[in-house]
Amino acid sequence: MNDEYSEIPCPRCGAYTRIDRIFCLRCRHRVIPLTPYDIVVDDFIYPSDRDGIESIKDLEPLPQLVKHFFIEKKLNLLRSQLVRESIKVKSLSSLDSIIRKCGIMLGLKVLPESFIISSDIPQAFTFGTDEEPMLVISSSMLEIMDEEELEAVIAHELGHVKSGHLVYHTLAELLVQGASFSFSLMGLNMITEPIRLLLLAWHRDSEISADRASILVTNDLDVIKSMFSKLIKQSERGFERVEILNSISELFKTHPTYLNRIKKLEEFYNSVEFKNARKKIEKRIMLLRAISPICRFCGAKKPLLSVFCPSCGRSQI
Ligand SMILES: [Zn+2]
Ligand SMILES: [Zn+2]
Ligand SMILES: [Zn+2]
Repeated sequence: MNDEYSEIPCPRCGAYTRIDRIFCLRCRHRVIPLTPYDIVVDDFIYPSDRDGIESIKDLEPLPQLVKHFFIEKKLNLLRSQLVRESIKVKSLSSLDSIIRKCGIMLGLKVLPESFIISSDIPQAFTFGTDEEPMLVISSSMLEIMDEEELEAVIAHELGHVKSGHLVYHTLAELLVQGASFSFSLMGLNMITEPIRLLLLAWHRDSEISADRASILVTNDLDVIKSMFSKLIKQSERGFERVEILNSISELFKTHPTYLNRIKKLEEFYNSVEFKNARKKIEKRIMLLRAISPICRFCGAKKPLLSVFCPSCGRSQI
C-alpha cells in the first residue's frame, strides 16, 4: 500500500519526500500545505496564555532583540554542542515517527531538529525560534516512558512550538536568572518588576496550552496522568537542576502544580472546545488518505489535496 505513495519535491530545499511523510526528510519543513482542517492555535490555547502573549508583544522590540542577540547565537552554540555530545534523531526512526505524527496532528509548519542527550534525568524541552525549533529529549525519558507516554511528552513540547512560545520562554527564563544586567548592557533598561512578574505568570499559563496540545494528540487523560506520575517519582529521587543546558531546560513541576495541571486538563477534556478540536484532528487524519497527485481509482492526474477526482468523480477516502 505504501508503495503507491508518490514523492514530491520540497518547496524549500528541493529534496524529494514521499507525500505521506508530510514533512521534508531533509529540512523538516512541510511539503504538504496546511489546510482549513489543520489545528490552529485558537483551537486549543489557554485564554490566559493568549492574553499573556498579547501583553508580551507590547514589549517589542525586547522579544526581537532577545531573539537576535541571544537565541540565534545560542542556537548555533547549542547545536554544535548537541552534534558533538548527543545523538541526532534519525529520520524515520521510531522516535522520529512519533515526532512526525505529533507534528501532523498539531499542524506544525516545521518539525523541530531533534536530539537525544544522555542523562539520568528524564527531561524534554524545546528551544529556538518559530522558524527553527529544536527539541531535546533525554535518554532516561526514553527509557521510563512507554510509547503513548512519550507521545504525550512530545505533543506537549510541540504544543509549545505550535503556540509560538519559544522566544518568549527564553525571555522569561533569562529574567528569572536575573539577566537585567546583560539587558542593560544591550541598552534595555525597560525590565521592571511588573514586566518580570507578567512573564513569569505567563510562563506557567503557557504550560497549560502545551498540556492541552498533549491531550489533543493522545486523547487519553490516563496516559498523561501516568506520564506525570513517572516524572514526579523521578523528581523525588532528589534531582533539582540539570547539568548541561540547565538555563533553558524545562523541568516538570512537582505535586501542587501537577495537580493543578491535571485539573485544568480535565476541564479542557470535558469542554466543547476540546470536542471540536478533536473532530478537526480526526477529519484531518481521514483526509490525509486523499493526498495524492493521481486518482487511486482511474489513475488520472488530480490536485494534490482534493478529495474528489476531477476525471472519474470518485471520492479518494
Ligand atoms: Zn526540504
Ligand atoms: Zn512545557
Ligand atoms: Zn479518478
